[in-house]
Amino acid sequence: MTDRLNARCHCGKVHLTLPATAAGVLACHCDDCQKMHGNFNAFLAVPVVDVEVSGAEHLVWYQSSAAARRAFCATCGARVLKEVTEAGRWLISAGMIEGPTGRRIIKNLWADSKPDWYDLPAVAT
Ligand SMILES: [Zn+2]
Ligand SMILES: [Zn+2]
Repeated sequence: MTDRLNARCHCGKVHLTLPATAAGVLACHCDDCQKMHGNFNAFLAVPVVDVEVSGAEHLVWYQSSAAARRAFCATCGARVLKEVTEAGRWLISAGMIEGPTGRRIIKNLWADSKPDWYDLPAVAT
């Protein structure tokens, strides 16, 4: 078992590695995530200092609220991460992780904000 997870955007210009101890998968159904991901946002949460980034110059940052900013790839538009600035935490899009993760969704966030066209994903117990 590897102790790091590898993640990359669709075009491959942005690569991340993060510790296998990252929390998640978490699913956020809030209005901001719906607007930016087109659906709920499934992510792994990890301290910024534990993530290695290559191709960071390809990230475009967007201040999505007073407390958070988000980064997408300038070339392919992949939604790479959300930074919870004061917490020093990155929420990294789960779809970018390469290979099997052995994980399931463990929690739904902002479930009351979910649109009416899908049911909440099942949560692993
Ligand atoms: Zn890309
Ligand atoms: Zn959200």
